[in-house]
Amino acid sequence: GRGHRGGVLTFGEALVGYAAASPSLAAATTFDRFLGGADLNVAVGLHRLGVPATYATVLGDDAHGDFAAERLRALDVPAVLRRASGPTAVMFKAGDGSGDPEVLQLRRGTAFALSAPEVLPGVAALLPGLGHVHLTGITLGISPASRQATLDLLEAAVGAGCTVSFDPNLRLPLWSDRDEMRDVLHAVAARADLVLPGVEEARLLTGSADPEAVVAFYLGLGAREVAVKLGARGAVGATADGNLVRSRRFAVEAVDTVGAGDGFAAGYVAGLLGGEPLQGRLDRAAAVGALVTTRTGDLDAMPDRTEVDALLAA
Ligand code: ADP
Repeated sequence: GRGHRGGVLTFGEALVGYAAASPSLAAATTFDRFLGGADLNVAVGLHRLGVPATYATVLGDDAHGDFAAERLRALDVPAVLRRASGPTAVMFKAGDGSGDPEVLQLRRGTAFALSAPEVLPGVAALLPGLGHVHLTGITLGISPASRQATLDLLEAAVGAGCTVSFDPNLRLPLWSDRDEMRDVLHAVAARADLVLPGVEEARLLTGSADPEAVVAFYLGLGAREVAVKLGARGAVGATADGNLVRSRRFAVEAVDTVGAGDGFAAGYVAGLLGGEPLQGRLDRAAAVGALVTTRTGDLDAMPDRTEVDALLAA
């Protein structure tokens, strides 16, 4: 049956980041190296919230891949790790906390050339013991191979009785054909139990930035539940049975919004698997997202359950 079982699997591209505490990349002199990736953030976020999470990824066979593999092992989160020939994705980030950081993403996806059968065996074997799989639009756009792997994983997850969440996570540079982009992202959203779009990407994907219209669009595609992220304005959540609620808005001092959407996803899935009602899981998601913005760093910014419960109780 569907349900919590052994926890959550996330699948995505890990990347090696270089972060500078300077106003811009051009002004940066020294960088700290870190491990990142939207789906890894979600796995770490879930783990800190007490939900068992496994992360599946493909790394390149270069020195950055070695670094990422080493950092992954040091995290407490179990990983299904594959290596492929080619460089690992790299990003540069600069920010002094006075606004959104400047980000430069390089060599996206060149390591993501493994075919689905090469990626999936380790993952598919886990599915019967898991309750939920979280996917993003990033792996749908990286390469034909990563798209097929994502679509195959979706089928395998549904077949194994797992619930599925989907963050369209629109990265425009990955897509050369906008119509194809919409078709592919909509096709996965239609199969998902839960879709988590940001309002700005929803504008590009659905033609509307009105949260209720975005909700109606995704429910109309066939999703069972939708949560639209509205940045500092919180979020709107709705289920196919006609329930629609607005999240609480948490007044926080935001210094770095990167990772807020990933924290939101972790909080939402944690609430969903924990059996919380719609308002409760939406508020939990919004609380995690708000806490992420109060810290620099991506996966390091994910709060633990105690902090989230404290904000929710405030
Ligand atoms: P995404 O980057 O995926 O579009 P958002 O930036 O909308 O995600 O952030 C996800 C969620 O985190 C929001 O829906 C909101 O609940 C919370 N959040 C984000 N920024 C803030 C903020 N400045 N203050 C309070 N909550 C925030």
